Amino acid sequence: SPIIVWIRRDLRLSDHAALSEAAGSGRPVIPVFLHDEVVDRLGAAPKWRFGLGVGAFAEALAGIGARLTLRRGTALEGLRALVQETGAGAVWWQRAYDPASQERDRAVKAALKEDGVDARSFAGHLLFEPWTVETKQGDYYKVYTPFWRAVKDREVPAALPSVSELRAPQRWPESDALADWAMGAAMDRGADIVGRYVRVGEAAAQGRLGAFIANGIADYDEARDIPAEDGTSTLSEPLTYGEISPRVCWHAGMRARQDGKPGAEAWLKELVWREFAYHLLHHTPRLETGNWRPEWDAFPWNEDDRRAEVIAWTRGRTGVDFVDAAMREMYVTGRMHNRARMIVASYLTKHLMTHWKIGKAWFEDCLVDWDPASNALGWQWSAGSGPDATPYFRIFNPATQRRRFDPDRRYVRRWVAEGQGQPPRTALDYFAAVPRAWGLSPDDGYPAPVVGLDAGRKRALDAYERRDF
Ligand code: FAD
Repeated sequence: SPIIVWIRRDLRLSDHAALSEAAGSGRPVIPVFLHDEVVDRLGAAPKWRFGLGVGAFAEALAGIGARLTLRRGTALEGLRALVQETGAGAVWWQRAYDPASQERDRAVKAALKEDGVDARSFAGHLLFEPWTVETKQGDYYKVYTPFWRAVKDREVPAALPSVSELRAPQRWPESDALADWAMGAAMDRGADIVGRYVRVGEAAAQGRLGAFIANGIADYDEARDIPAEDGTSTLSEPLTYGEISPRVCWHAGMRARQDGKPGAEAWLKELVWREFAYHLLHHTPRLETGNWRPEWDAFPWNEDDRRAEVIAWTRGRTGVDFVDAAMREMYVTGRMHNRARMIVASYLTKHLMTHWKIGKAWFEDCLVDWDPASNALGWQWSAGSGPDATPYFRIFNPATQRRRFDPDRRYVRRWVAEGQGQPPRTALDYFAAVPRAWGLSPDDGYPAPVVGLDAGRKRALDAYERRDF
């Protein structure tokens, strides 16, 4: 009987354990993508980008003579209906590790097994299953460096070869049309503009990795902190949709290290930050929803997301050029440089004393590389409420940071049009992308700071010192 392979954040043919195993079984294989309860909840940019990825993956499957069946509805209903229609005896998939997916998958697995279906999950979205990394006391890791030490010399199996053939079923099931799902419907920011900056699909991801290993990784250690440079891999986008597997990235990084490329170890460590984020999210699902350190519940966070200061932050109009450049970069490209993410998160949670959940939600709506674990950890780390976090009293000064990491203002000029006689296209793209209702124009003049940098810093430190924890 056929095997249904339920495709989720694993839009690739190479290093895909479930597809490889199904291909090797000699049985007919029906790959399926469901617009289910988890996909429903995605923010605007990630949902739009996911749709592009699904389209590219459907083409890749067509290229090997297979099809991607699309269905909408809850995962269990969708899979049960397909099992009925196709007579499939098995439903296989690759595991996800965020709480919403895990809850869904547990229920689906139990129900399908009860129906007598061979429901099976495979590893693949991570290098190390979160429950296989333990301290000597049998606990999970709360601090990154010991986590890195625990995994850095582990054997990572070689990546699986690309699946080149899948046996077709006698009849392909009916499929929805991807366009009818309108996964970009919430992109009121001009998807055509953001579309210029994304690179979709498995081949593009492998191209990025190849180019980064050839040209970028050697200098990664220095270049990665300069937002105007093309100094990082930009693989977070394909990694989050599984257009490339972390194992493929890991082995490429290891080879670069063996070849003596100086930045390779630093890059491998970043891949392990992604692992660490999932390790923590798996063991403490509250990382996504509340202060990881509960004592922070007593902190006077401002939770009003309609305040003028917060709106100015989301719109890149705080009057602090580094912060505004970064927020505009994200709005236009769906990405933001890591150094900039740290600065805008520090500014929102410290200078503006705003609850990190508000920033996290905005990122979730804007980032094409949105990842449930890395985003949650990044925000709690920046706010000081998370595990292994930067202490609250370490407040980035965005002006000093700009002088240090953007000394020639290349990054600021790329994204902030105001005050430039002939702004570059990137900076103008921002005004083309924002909804008309925001009423923004490059001729408006640059805003005065919504809060003085010293005053904001003092306000945050005073609140921190008055805390009763
Ligand atoms: P590279 O520097 O080339 O690193 C290689 C890979 O390592 C990345 O693709 C990513 O998978 C992983 N990585 C690097 N830095 C981190 C990190 N700090 N935490 C976890 N994994 C990391 N990353 C996301 O993928 N999605 C998010 O939604 C996200 N939100 C963030 C929010 C905040 C407030 C902060 C401070 C960081 C966030 N990050 C997030 C982490 C980091 O900024 C991005 O992973 C990185 O900028 C991606 O660029 P790159 O692919 O060029 O990374």
